Amino acid sequence: MSLEYFFHPQSVAIVGASQTSGKVGYEIVKNIRQGDYAGKVFPVNPKADRIADYPCFADLASIGEVPELVIIVVPAKVVLKIMEQCGALGVKAVVVITAGFKEVGPEGKELEDRLVQIARKHNIRVIGPNCLGVMVPAHQLNASFGGELPLPGGIGYISQSGALLAAILDIAKAGDIGFSSLWSIGNKADIDELDIIRALGEDSNTTVIAGYLESINDGNAFVRETEQISHRKPILLMKSGGTSAGSKAASSHTGSLAGGETVYESAFERAGVIRCDSIKTQFDFAQAFAYQPLPPGDRVAVVTNAGGPGIMSADAIERAGLTFAELSEPTRAKLAEQLPAAANIENPIDVLGDALEDRYAYAMDVVMDDPNVDIVLVLLTPQAMTRANETAQAMADILAKRKDKPVLACFLGADFVVDSLEILRRNRIPFYDSPEAAVRTIRAMADYVRWRNRPQRVVKLFPVNRHRVERVIDRHLRRGLREVGEMESKEILEAYGFVTPQGEIATTAEQAANIADQLDYPVVMKIWSPDIVHKSDVGGVRVGIHSRREVMDAFDLMMYRIPKKMPEADILGVLVQEMCRSGQEVILGMNRDAQFGPLMMFGMGGIFVEVLKDVAFHLAPLTADEARRMLMATRTYKMLQGVRGQEGVDIDVIAEALQRLSQLVTEFPAIQEMDINPFMVGPPGTTPIAVDARISVEKPKNP
Ligand code: ADP
Ligand code: MG
Repeated sequence: MSLEYFFHPQSVAIVGASQTSGKVGYEIVKNIRQGDYAGKVFPVNPKADRIADYPCFADLASIGEVPELVIIVVPAKVVLKIMEQCGALGVKAVVVITAGFKEVGPEGKELEDRLVQIARKHNIRVIGPNCLGVMVPAHQLNASFGGELPLPGGIGYISQSGALLAAILDIAKAGDIGFSSLWSIGNKADIDELDIIRALGEDSNTTVIAGYLESINDGNAFVRETEQISHRKPILLMKSGGTSAGSKAASSHTGSLAGGETVYESAFERAGVIRCDSIKTQFDFAQAFAYQPLPPGDRVAVVTNAGGPGIMSADAIERAGLTFAELSEPTRAKLAEQLPAAANIENPIDVLGDALEDRYAYAMDVVMDDPNVDIVLVLLTPQAMTRANETAQAMADILAKRKDKPVLACFLGADFVVDSLEILRRNRIPFYDSPEAAVRTIRAMADYVRWRNRPQRVVKLFPVNRHRVERVIDRHLRRGLREVGEMESKEILEAYGFVTPQGEIATTAEQAANIADQLDYPVVMKIWSPDIVHKSDVGGVRVGIHSRREVMDAFDLMMYRIPKKMPEADILGVLVQEMCRSGQEVILGMNRDAQFGPLMMFGMGGIFVEVLKDVAFHLAPLTADEARRMLMATRTYKMLQGVRGQEGVDIDVIAEALQRLSQLVTEFPAIQEMDINPFMVGPPGTTPIAVDARISVEKPKNP
């Protein structure tokens, strides 16, 4: 069933309606009345005649028709009984305002489970429990106790916190911000964030979806569906709290670096969801998205009446990675024609401190005509001659005629500009209290446009040897082993096209020396134990060993010292390995998130990964483009390109390795976390080598 009955019910019953002002059961009926809701309203209360001018009913059955929407406000212990009555009557949509469910502990959780059972049995969709209700300004419906109905507008809002929604309503009221609908989803026992986002995606009154979330029920579905919706409408979300995955003890570098925050960031980026870190930022963004066209690109032109703020915005534009528009020759000529000789006709266009509205209007119009400009920021400082109101009106007049490019305003000041801001607001010109806030918004718009224009995602599949991997993993799962040892990790990697160093395990010094002779010098020696995760930490790695004698000494030393340091460790011997030509060390890794699946990592490798933390993340499966972006997001990327006369490395080869790894972890859900560190890369033409690898497996929970 769609959520039509919640958006646009023809009739609403309030069970638990009250005559006592201040009680939730009264406030809701009063709010419905004051909102001028056009449908039928049935307060249900056996002890009252009338509530807020509506005749009352003793129970749902005595209404005589089936209300399309039922709001339940009765105490928690009575809610199930009312739900059964709704079911018997054929009600299809219910909002449970009542608290005292999952949020209060195990007993409440049980009550909530039973509520859901009843709902499923009767095909009832439920919002809540423990919520503020629903507001649909587009249809003058205020089925909530969140206060006055806000103005109608294009923003559809969803909140997992009722209290925060109340604050948002208050801010919206002060700023005349309009909404298509607002949803307090409470405990999300039945209808969850994705149901609402999906419905808002379909809702013709909603142009921007915004919200505050604390958790996401189904990470995979969330990414899949919001990615579709983001192509049609921007989704702006505030998100607090991490995921469950962050808490489990990590045995890989990737696992320890991939916190709950990271995975949400990656999920949002993948889905084109715009993340907002505060209510203010969210409204800053929402107004621009709701009322202005999307910019064709990221080239910003600034029109200002003072040099200082012009420079501030130019700095902010550069810091934000946006392009400072270079005006075309005809534009400059036109500006020179009408503006005073002292005016700056280059970006930022300075119309000078004595500029009246006509100069602003002229400059704005001319700049908007320039094909080199995608977006215009108008700055105003209150100087002696400045006419803020008239300037705001002049901007509105231009935008009434043309809406081809977004225009944002930043009128600095407070008292002097207060009326002009009112004019901007009425005319839906988004305005900001600092050039930085305006630029942040421009950046969000430009990022969104770039995301929408990205080519269709195509994930390349490489020919690999799945059976070989299956065998190794099955063997571990059968024996209940979590850590896959270095040798078997390498077997897995080779099956997916990676090259690993040659080497063998020695159990005596003599044997070690023989292996080294076979491999050719120099060699590397590493302690070999399933219990030692980071070998260097215990003195378990020696590189650049040049002779038989040295090999034998190193063997004896390791076998003597390490068991002393780690008496518990089961030490199987020493790995003697070919030494790779020196190259740059990078790390390729993955951590599987319980909510969102495999999260890939790329970064600066070696033994200081956790210290330097120069890493980038992205959800698998990776496209070639996404893999390349991950590389580019790190500082290591600059080094890989070659610095100080050093030759660069083949970037595409690393990007391909990341894609292969992404394919491996996508095809094997048993792999919980892994990394290749170091992945040693040399100049173009040389083969990169997976020197060290760590893989943990576990029976997948939902294969
Ligand atoms: P761990 O990460 O368990 O300490 P590694 O096998 O990654 O052990 O070795 C630590 C460091 O030693 C690597 O980052 C790399 O610099 C160097 N190293 C290890 N093996 C080789 C090798 N075969 N060739 C060249 N350098 C190596
Ligand atoms: Mg290592």
